[in-house]
Amino acid sequence: MSTALVWFRRDLRLHDNPALIAALETHENIVPVYIHAPHEEAPWQPGAASNVWLHHSLTDLQSSLKKLTCPLVIRNTNGKESSLSALNKLLEDTGADTVYWNRLYEPAIIERDKAIKADLTENGFTATSCKAALLVEPWEVQTGGGAPYRVFTPFWKNIKQRPVPQPLAKPEQLASIENITSETLDSLSLLPTRNWGESMISHWQPGEAGAVARLEQFLGAPLKTYADDRNRPDREGSSNLSPHLHFGEISPRQIWHATEAYVARSQAQGGNADGDKFLSEIAWREFAHHLLFYYPETTEKPMNAKFSGFPWRDSTTADYKKELQLWQKGNTGIPIIDAGLRELYATGVMHNRVRMIAASLLTKNMLIHWHDGAAWFWDTLVDADLAANSLGWQWVAGSGADAAPYFRIFNPVLQGEKFDPEGDYVRHWVPEVAKLPKKWVHKPWEAKDEVLQQAGFTLGKHYPRPIVDLKVTRQRALDAYKEIKG
Ligand code: FAD
Repeated sequence: MSTALVWFRRDLRLHDNPALIAALETHENIVPVYIHAPHEEAPWQPGAASNVWLHHSLTDLQSSLKKLTCPLVIRNTNGKESSLSALNKLLEDTGADTVYWNRLYEPAIIERDKAIKADLTENGFTATSCKAALLVEPWEVQTGGGAPYRVFTPFWKNIKQRPVPQPLAKPEQLASIENITSETLDSLSLLPTRNWGESMISHWQPGEAGAVARLEQFLGAPLKTYADDRNRPDREGSSNLSPHLHFGEISPRQIWHATEAYVARSQAQGGNADGDKFLSEIAWREFAHHLLFYYPETTEKPMNAKFSGFPWRDSTTADYKKELQLWQKGNTGIPIIDAGLRELYATGVMHNRVRMIAASLLTKNMLIHWHDGAAWFWDTLVDADLAANSLGWQWVAGSGADAAPYFRIFNPVLQGEKFDPEGDYVRHWVPEVAKLPKKWVHKPWEAKDEVLQQAGFTLGKHYPRPIVDLKVTRQRALDAYKEIKG
């Protein structure tokens, strides 16, 4: 009886799992394995919110595999042992001859996986890796000139005309071998000691079933209005699939085909559903991975080299640290920014539009290095993803591929008035301003004292004055940009 290890990483699903299916095609017995080795992802080992999600997602996978009488085998490297050594021991203990896994694209993981594949092969084992996390792997698409893409629109045009294979079915049954012990999930210590994690994760259902439920709910209603509502933090306008996608609880091709099927059904019934905008956002995720693969240094360095000399403020000063902390905790005195950062801390996500506004304030008005914003997001987002986070921050800072032009500095008041016109979003997350009339809810510092009194607060006492003068700091940012423009 031949046995294979299936090494689960960020592909925590049984549906459309190419490594699992490939293993089943050639082996009678499957040993599903999870190896906890965050140190191998340094300096980008998962942050606190990601760890909470991972704990719950692994719980879900454990239970699904148990139902198929093929229990998940957990190994904890305790930050010392390597994944390779854990795999070698498992190969010995199980008598397996092959290791299957689905590919990931972060630079540190690529290096590690390459070394593991080489070592296993040299020692007479087979190591098979599969495509599962992306619609197109970075090397599958290139510009007409044979170069990597740096601009999204032609990348999207290319992706759009490529056939997307149908997702693979979930295996009906799995056979494993007996007497392989597993460490417990709790031994990985993924949950924080503070009870923040529990309330944060209560907004979500991590795991494969939760991912599919999210997709169905999204296709059931928000997709129809997605093109407009995706920009509205006051509405349930987007899919909220990002953490599920990051942990591989659902595959992009499951999403692609479900969306196309929904649109076709709707059009057959005379509806005018259009999945294009939504699928183009799925393609932004692909684009982010494409960029990270070809420009791995962009997690640290500006993609546009001109920005290497950008005059960020001195990060060692007390003012810099204090202001960064006020931003992190949602105490800037600018309601839409504070709402976003409080939403992030409470739920593990921030609405995309608000991510852009908050990142713009930090990098442009406050001249705080985007590294510091990216690091905070890394620790607090449940969808923290090296490719998407690096792209997002560099895009807003103006230094990235296909980035927003530097001189386009978001005005948080105008953005709030446009995308949260009634102020519902800020009222929810910033209760201090909840009683202000809509005219002032995005700019309490411009309201007269009696208006503030009627709304029950004093500026500077119950809610801070704005951390920056938007006009003055806008000009300061433009001047800073002039320094590097030439
Ligand atoms: P939807 O609008 O429903 O989009 C569907 C899916 O497309 C998303 O789940 C996501 O996987 C993908 N997607 C959408 N927009 C983008 C984008 N701009 N870049 C890459 N993929 C995208 N997204 C992350 O997944 N992880 C991050 O760490 C991350 N950091 C960001 C940091 C900044 C400063 C900014 C401006 C954006 C960042 N994004 C990140 C992109 C975006 O904000 C989120 O993907 C989106 O808010 C997730 O919500 P949703 O699932 O409802 O998206």
